[in-house]
Amino acid sequence: MEQNTLPTPVANADSKPYWDAARERRLVIRKCKACSQLHFMPRHLCPQCWSDQLEWVDAKGTGTVHSFTVVRRASDPAFTALVPYVVALIELEEGPRMMANILGADALEVKIGDRVKVTFEDRGDGALLPQFQRA
Ligand SMILES: [Zn+2]
Repeated sequence: MEQNTLPTPVANADSKPYWDAARERRLVIRKCKACSQLHFMPRHLCPQCWSDQLEWVDAKGTGTVHSFTVVRRASDPAFTALVPYVVALIELEEGPRMMANILGADALEVKIGDRVKVTFEDRGDGALLPQFQRA
């Protein structure tokens, strides 16, 4: 049996709720209570108004491909077996953009503007990584 050697998420104080939600197959993003700005990636202060009054909200888990690249030579040996694979910048329905892999049999046919939806990749030990697949 092939061993899963892909890296598992490492949570910090700012991102722990994100990874905990992912374990429940929920994609969450940050919302500023002061200016209502939604943002990703998780951080301690609002990137728009610097307020620390932030909350977590559920994202729909849908979006479009803003940009992507096909990785054909892995930068880390853990990813060698996966090449070629797609790394994409996803623009979420709610506005923020996030980097993720496009998974699925048709991933290499991805185009800018494609509709995508979140899927959760098992990284072992209960850890799930939000990724995307073509919708
Ligand atoms: Zn704000």
